[in-house]
Amino acid sequence: MADEPNPIAFAVEVMETHWSGDCCDIDGECLQDMAERHGIIVRREFSGPCELSYCTCAEVGDPPYFCYRMNPGLVPEETTDG
Ligand SMILES: [Zn+2]
Repeated sequence: MADEPNPIAFAVEVMETHWSGDCCDIDGECLQDMAERHGIIVRREFSGPCELSYCTCAEVGDPPYFCYRMNPGLVPEETTDG
């Protein structure tokens, strides 16, 4: 299952990338890709701004907007502004 979180595989890829020869740091986009690939975060699609007033997902590009959230299997899903 694609959304099944695998924190160990995520941690291993982060460290192997960090230690690889070409770069010594991992930028935010790279880190987000790794987190999605290993199910740490999940991507949700919206045709307009999502329900979270503080979220900036609809400020980047054109619809559909991609909103990244922590996998609800790891932490409770954010559905309100609290
Ligand atoms: Zn959002």
